[in-house]
Amino acid sequence: MTGGGYGRRMTMLTRARAATLESLMIGEGYSSLGDEYVERRDPTPLRDPYLIAFSPDVAALVGLEAAQAERPEFLRLAAGCSRFEAVAPYAAVYAGHQFGSFVPQLGDGRAITLGEVETADGARYEWQIKGAGQTAFSRFGDGRAVLRSTIREYLGSEAMAGLGIPTTRALAIAGSDEPVFRETPETAGVLTRIAPSHLRFGTFEYFHDRSRFEAVRAVADYAIANFFPGVARVASDADRYAQLLHEVVGRTARLIAQWQAVGFAHGVMNTDNMSILGLTLDYGPFGFLDAFDPGFICNHTDVGGRYAFDRQPAVALWNCHALAAALSSLVSKDDAAAALAAFAPAFQARYAQALADKFGLGEPRPDDPTFFADALAALARNRVDYTIFFRALSSLSFGDATSFGDAAASPQSSTLVAGDADACKRLIALFENRADAEALLQRYRARIALESRDDAARMAAMRRANPKYVLRNYLAENAIRAARERDYSDIARLHAVLRDPFDEHPQSEAYAGTPPPWAAELSVSCSS
Ligand code: AMP
Ligand code: MG
Repeated sequence: MTGGGYGRRMTMLTRARAATLESLMIGEGYSSLGDEYVERRDPTPLRDPYLIAFSPDVAALVGLEAAQAERPEFLRLAAGCSRFEAVAPYAAVYAGHQFGSFVPQLGDGRAITLGEVETADGARYEWQIKGAGQTAFSRFGDGRAVLRSTIREYLGSEAMAGLGIPTTRALAIAGSDEPVFRETPETAGVLTRIAPSHLRFGTFEYFHDRSRFEAVRAVADYAIANFFPGVARVASDADRYAQLLHEVVGRTARLIAQWQAVGFAHGVMNTDNMSILGLTLDYGPFGFLDAFDPGFICNHTDVGGRYAFDRQPAVALWNCHALAAALSSLVSKDDAAAALAAFAPAFQARYAQALADKFGLGEPRPDDPTFFADALAALARNRVDYTIFFRALSSLSFGDATSFGDAAASPQSSTLVAGDADACKRLIALFENRADAEALLQRYRARIALESRDDAARMAAMRRANPKYVLRNYLAENAIRAARERDYSDIARLHAVLRDPFDEHPQSEAYAGTPPPWAAELSVSCSS
């Protein structure tokens, strides 16, 4: 491996606020556990790489000066052509339940962690490159990622971060003309991915399956010591591991509640894609809802719909059961049952709160869950665009409404609900059945009348809960098509909007519309 010389060992005492590549503090991170847990392996350099995208937000997160991205040394690092000298890069082993079947040996087949960066504030992040070449865990794979999937993960993870949903982050994309063969020849991309840890449920499953219970304990101890300070304070071993499970179950439940609220479908919720930290992890055939369709299946290889949108909470709980089984050498049956029982209430509470925020309800009432269910059923029946509906609802004022009709009595009335007739008409037009829309809006108006908050405050709060922009599949596809022609401007424009999805971006209004007809033909699969 040529080049290098970046990064220093963590023992250095002087730390710049925003570091250069050379002054970044790099530690071993998870690989410090030893050779049982990782394969130490240098990345395979990408041939003649070029920089396709870079996120200054993520650079700031890891304490890297944004200007460093302009250096050829950064590109070399992002393309796997060099490494941090201080630490040997590594791929981690794990197992996992894939579509319900246990696969005893998986692992980072194409992701290589270059080290763990410590920021001036003491935060630590794994610096991982995905698509970095073969490792001991590549099985039959080539260790590469196609540019298409790299762009989707880059935009997907930064969009989720913009929405305030826990996720791994994306620092950069390096591309190359190097061919990668999938269904058709494509070109290669390498994504630089950042997270405090990429540990998965499957990491525990791997060691448990081999009855290597000391290793299960070592991974649990590592996770607790580094990422769960509250759990680390629990004195007794048995309680501490039970608390770890409880914490992971809770984080997972809350994460999925956020997915459901924003209309995100992951696509491949295998246990090897489930983060111990409750992060959205491993973006493959994911999708954001366009028209509200509870049974939405974004992964076209998921024939049985195991990972359909509305099955995500149940699947997440199933995955938590798999994690509990993998921790059974550390956590008693009763403690595990108690931790798992906490999933449903944690999910329900977070989801109900998210829906209340989306509808602008600041004072919960007993009937709200029924209202939410009926409203979502009406959206589904009418194939209403999920994101556009809630954003439009956020602009609907009732304050100066004077002429309200009765939905049943005057179904043709256009001013029947709100003071702002135009906003009202736009909302009603989203529905296939006008009477359905009017009935829902009447009911909504009656519910809003019970709130003490004034209209302006409610609408402002709703605009912070209802994004105007999400990464619709066709938007990602447009950016991918342009990138194949070496035009990366759409990636940058989309990224700029998605990092701030609750604000208006008048120049980018087109990103907020419904999908064009050709989008119906798009299909995404596990191939990446
Ligand atoms: P995924 O469906 O992307 O979560 O991947 C499932 C497993 O397959 C993981 O262990 C990956 O590291 C591995 N994998 C996926 N694609 C490749 C590839 N092109 N080369 C090597 N391993 C891969
Ligand atoms: Mg994966």
